[in-house]
Amino acid sequence: MLVVMAAHATEEQVRAVCDKIESLGLRAHSLPGAQRTAIGVTGNSGEVEPGSIEEMPGVQEIIKVSKPYKLVSRDAKEDNTVVRFSAPVGETEPTIGGPELAVIAGPCAIESREQAFAVAERVHRAGGRFFRGGAYKPRTSPYSFQGLEEEGLKILAEIRQTYGLKIVTEAIDRESLELVERYADVIQIGARNMQNFSLLKHAGRARKPVLLKRGLSATLEEFLMAAEYVMSEGNYNVILCERGVRTFADHTRNTLDLSVVPAVHRLSHLPILADPSHGTGKRNKVTPLSRAAVAVGVDGLIIEVHCDPDRALSDGMQSLYPEQFDELMSEVRQIAPIVHRSMPDARTHAHAHAQ
Ligand code: PEP
Ligand code: MN
Repeated sequence: MLVVMAAHATEEQVRAVCDKIESLGLRAHSLPGAQRTAIGVTGNSGEVEPGSIEEMPGVQEIIKVSKPYKLVSRDAKEDNTVVRFSAPVGETEPTIGGPELAVIAGPCAIESREQAFAVAERVHRAGGRFFRGGAYKPRTSPYSFQGLEEEGLKILAEIRQTYGLKIVTEAIDRESLELVERYADVIQIGARNMQNFSLLKHAGRARKPVLLKRGLSATLEEFLMAAEYVMSEGNYNVILCERGVRTFADHTRNTLDLSVVPAVHRLSHLPILADPSHGTGKRNKVTPLSRAAVAVGVDGLIIEVHCDPDRALSDGMQSLYPEQFDELMSEVRQIAPIVHRSMPDARTHAHAHAQ
């Protein structure tokens, strides 16, 4: 159920409606928009009797949401969700879902301080505003590199301090989630955990934005329901990411389903990124698919970059050399205006931030 407040409704009226909803043993999610505030009501196992709420001051109408996802839906919130981050001194604030395309780049895994800093310097210089790198790696084999864990998170925090890059890194369970929330700016939930409902609920209670990757065989509805899990716990800063799904194609590691981007934009207010690195698994296909993703209307890209991919401990085959990343940025920068998006400029002087 959705309580739509009138455009002129006061904050007190919104609060009174929320209190009323909570007093009925339900949960109220206030979703402010440019025109009006809508209040999503969740937690109802059966029908809610809307009568008493409908008569409250400031209430315009009550809408029954028939879709299984409620808070994620554009019905609940018409305006795009823009996830905002604090800006380093003297810069505009980085955003995901706003007019500027978000570029999140970095190695698959944090392998060492030297390795991570070498990539971060190049990402920063190329104009990236977000740095990625796994400290906890969900690997197919238990014998593969599993990540540096908290030591990796400390390196990431140092990178933020040095370059002003916002940190995106994956949590794989409840324990790592707590640490990632403490050290990072965005909590990544990986494709293999997209339907780990207990982890999604915990991420929903975290106070950092959540980047949710699409599961390897998830339908759009399953993907949106996973986001609904996070939002239902009160975390409304959810960023979706298409990272390729499994098909019969054997010329790529996965099939990057770019058609999901306009489909998500139609059904949901949440931003959606594309990850052509995992989406193709092949270095030579990352830049072409990045161009296509921007043309199709993504809100940003996630790109794996490594200074010595042949010796990378994970995903070397799909990691770009820094020079290739520079070229990708320059090509995407030319496409962005066609779809009414902007891109941060490359930095001609590669100086550290030292915030
Ligand atoms: C990653 O981002 O390195 C990763 C493991 O991604 P995914 O969950 O999409 O496989
Ligand atoms: Mn990877």
